[in-house]
Amino acid sequence: MHSASKPLHDLGVAELAASLRAGQVSAVEAAQHFLGRARSHESLGAFLAIDEEVTVSQARAADARLAAGTAGPLEGVPLAHKDIFVTKDLPSTAGSRMLEGYRSPFDATVVRKLADAGVVTLGKLNCDEFAMGSSNENSAYQPACNPWDLSRVPGGSSGGSAVAVAARLAPAATGTDTGGSIRQPASFCGITGIKPTYGRASRYGMIAFASSLDQAGPMARSAEDCALLLSNLCGPDPDRDSTSLDLPTEDFARSLNDSIDGLRIGIPKEFFGEGLSADVRTAVEGALGEFEKMGARLVPISLPRTELSIPVYYIIAPAEASSNLSRFDGVKFGHRAKAFADLVDMYKKTRAEGFGDEVKRRIMIGTYVLSHGYYDAYYLQAQRIRRMIADDFQQAFKSCDLIAGPVAPTVAWKLGGHGNDPLADYLADIFTLPASLAGLPGMSVPAGFGDGAMPVGLQLIGNYFTESRLLNAAHRLQQATDFHSRKPEGV
Ligand code: GLN
Repeated sequence: MHSASKPLHDLGVAELAASLRAGQVSAVEAAQHFLGRARSHESLGAFLAIDEEVTVSQARAADARLAAGTAGPLEGVPLAHKDIFVTKDLPSTAGSRMLEGYRSPFDATVVRKLADAGVVTLGKLNCDEFAMGSSNENSAYQPACNPWDLSRVPGGSSGGSAVAVAARLAPAATGTDTGGSIRQPASFCGITGIKPTYGRASRYGMIAFASSLDQAGPMARSAEDCALLLSNLCGPDPDRDSTSLDLPTEDFARSLNDSIDGLRIGIPKEFFGEGLSADVRTAVEGALGEFEKMGARLVPISLPRTELSIPVYYIIAPAEASSNLSRFDGVKFGHRAKAFADLVDMYKKTRAEGFGDEVKRRIMIGTYVLSHGYYDAYYLQAQRIRRMIADDFQQAFKSCDLIAGPVAPTVAWKLGGHGNDPLADYLADIFTLPASLAGLPGMSVPAGFGDGAMPVGLQLIGNYFTESRLLNAAHRLQQATDFHSRKPEGV
């Protein structure tokens, strides 16, 4: 029987893994505890699918391995997956009607790697349709609400993941980040999340949005837990994802406790301009002050094309999406219109019925910017500027070891607060898009609270392959502050 002083749901991944190994709690007990919490917090809208039988049978197998001494590093730890990862034991929808009821014949590599490490799947988490969005309001199924203030959005597109972790319905979750979808919901919900260098995690079985940007990563409460999960979900997958990096698996937790004395933290002036709300600025500056107390040095830098990252991303991402989403034609899998006159009519009706407004908008933008006559003017120009954005970072990293700034210009906004204005959503991505376009690792770390006691995240961006340095800085901050261990009222 579990007898620790904290309730099970307040234990982090590392603590839970240790309790499971020590036999203080069984995997079945842990799984049932979290399933119970998911049930009692259904109104938060975090989950799209739960199958108690699947979860409990995975937990039983974990208990058997724990007893047999063949346990993996995360044996018995419950975790939920963003519903953009395909799973063979649970439905996979990508938050879209197009894939309602779809069952994949295989598990995504990230899902399989975490299962190999011993993780028990709690279910599939709500997200914006095909990961397009910043508020989770584009989910075709249900809205999700921010546990810190139920009238506000949790962020997106990995909104369900952030809600589940913040409300302690799961100790950790997977997320994906194409233009900020791990970092921004982590920031809005007061948790920790990291998007590794593009190519670190395999994209096999991640339902594709924009392939040159999509990247998986963990969302948990602490940097330590993120490091542990990241070490287990990354790694080459040469036969299945040709863009996965041929780098050996790393222990990202190895330097968590290193001193940050002398660390040079670049502060991009473009991240602290007019658009930044005062409360976010205050919290972020507070966290930077903590780093200074630990001996880090703040170095002014410039990322001059920050503003251009919005038009560039909203050309490139829809272009890739328009191509990726062509597979949803009613023939191969997913939704098919019931009544149609001929093949073309079937395509049209299927796609009209299956996709939501934002997805359709992006397919139209994408096909437009790729079309003959506009390709040079839009798509090619965007690719050129994307390269310049990446170069700006390399210039900046000549004078600093990592970059810090806000994740988003404001705290979480009200549900429905951006009305029918997609541009308001797009503009709020300004600080996360640059690192995405450059393929750099980035993370969000709880840094304080702003307007209406809403969480504020600090963004850390590193050069390629420097995830362990980001996690080190984040961990040191979390030893000096307690923002990451605070929880919303009533949770
Ligand atoms: N908000 C961005 C978008 O809507 C990013 C989404 C993501 O990272 N998946 O495209």
